[in-house]
Amino acid sequence: MTELEQARAKIAELERVIEAHNAEIERLRIASLTYYIDIDGTICNTTGEDYANAQPIQANIDKANALHQAGHRVVYWTARGAGSGKDWWYLTMKQLRDWGCEFDELSFDKPVFDVVIDDRARRWGEV
Ligand SMILES: [Mg+2]
Repeated sequence: MTELEQARAKIAELERVIEAHNAEIERLRIASLTYYIDIDGTICNTTGEDYANAQPIQANIDKANALHQAGHRVVYWTARGAGSGKDWWYLTMKQLRDWGCEFDELSFDKPVFDVVIDDRARRWGEV
């Protein structure tokens, strides 16, 4: 095989690798889901609105991190401050970082409610 033929073969091989890589990226993109994950009572134990002393639930944080590492979009979703109007962004962001949470977005637009009935709701054992 001449040097030119070897170079062409190498280029063809690289093109196959790139094509396979792009197909894998597309497969993962299509398989990617968006998870809205509550904070208080879900990834940490919180007493009332004593957010500053919330204690992380590492097993649940690990499950959420695994979803993120699998390519899913993780949005932490909280109603902190929805009733009081107080801004909990800094404390909450610091807690998520201190607890090793991997996520794409922190959202404070969760409404205040007592019970949610939703066909898309899942418990940790179901994800
Ligand atoms: Mg909650």
